[in-house]
Amino acid sequence: MDTAKNIENAGLYLHIPFCIKKCSYCDFYSITDLSLKEAFLKALISEMHMVSGGSLLFDTLYIGGGTPSVFDEVCIGRIIETAYSLFNILPDSEVTIETNPGTVSRKRLAGYRGAGVNRVNVGVQSLQDVNLDFLGRIHSGKEGELAIRWARQSGFDNIGLDLIYGIPGQTIKSWLLDLKRAVELEPEHISCYMLTYESGTPMDRDRKKGIFWPAPDSHVCDMFETTIDLLNSSGYAQYEISNFARSGSDGLKSFKSRHNQKYWSFVPYIGLGPSAHSFVESERCWNCRSVNKYIKELNAGRLPLTGKELLNKEQRIMEAIYVGLRRTDGIDVDIFNEKFDVSFKKIFAETIARLEEDGLIKLTENRCSLTRKGMLFADSITSMLI
Ligand code: SF4
Repeated sequence: MDTAKNIENAGLYLHIPFCIKKCSYCDFYSITDLSLKEAFLKALISEMHMVSGGSLLFDTLYIGGGTPSVFDEVCIGRIIETAYSLFNILPDSEVTIETNPGTVSRKRLAGYRGAGVNRVNVGVQSLQDVNLDFLGRIHSGKEGELAIRWARQSGFDNIGLDLIYGIPGQTIKSWLLDLKRAVELEPEHISCYMLTYESGTPMDRDRKKGIFWPAPDSHVCDMFETTIDLLNSSGYAQYEISNFARSGSDGLKSFKSRHNQKYWSFVPYIGLGPSAHSFVESERCWNCRSVNKYIKELNAGRLPLTGKELLNKEQRIMEAIYVGLRRTDGIDVDIFNEKFDVSFKKIFAETIARLEEDGLIKLTENRCSLTRKGMLFADSITSMLI
């Protein structure tokens, strides 16, 4: 489980680029040609051999996608075993797999648990079929519910459940119904993502053609407020704009995603698989997106890297503000000043005063964070500061 010291260790991310069918809103990189699975697995294992982790110590392994659960427990076991044999992965690490309810069975989930996965994240998105149909998901609400129950029966004591809100036609009442049903399933972690229209997705094209009307902003804002109220009163503390976690029964451990916190804390991470990014010592690099090219490069004994950049001080300041403001703890002003050798309060004095007046930002002795209202405008507030 998360503790502050664990955040300092590195994270390992493996991108599984397959999905049974593309959801209409999704712009993550994945393909639906499952015939490449075997060749991909071989390439991923080659990439792990070529990269390994140097002197980095890892305490999280995150198998994301795409839909990692298109692979059965034997393949996932092979991936985990290879990762442990090549990288310095500490005992007691958080090992997460993302799953789609349309691709899991009780047997497969139990197999993942047996293969060393100790945290499962289930992309439920909604427990109502009308919403799932609109999103183009391959599963029903009932299957989402079953996946959570099966995960629990398989011995998982750290389960995450993802939901989406702001779906056209969704009322506050129907969103509350999803939230309450999700809480009844007692996952340790709930992520609630606002539906966004990413350019190039089928859903965005339909929106532009006027095939449906997006939910009005004010309505989506009300849903966001409802989310925080309902989840807080149900024992889930918000720690990032979209993420909520329960505490353990001893009150000491927390079920925040240890891995995702690394992305928000400037901790090194290595990403393998098509389109995956890595970040080590201010250098960011990333792999090619195409699965075919990825396989071809690795078969030829070459790393599938396609770009890299060394972040300069300004870029690192921008990143620190962007990720810091997404967290409910906000930016630690003392650490920020020390890290960048600047005075946060001096640089941003004017903008922060304006944002404080509008009730969008809170500045205390050593913390700067968004208010609840500010979280609704996180992106525009961030761009005002950078
Ligand atoms: S299952 Fe997940 S990764 Fe695949 S298309 Fe749907 S949202 Fe995207």
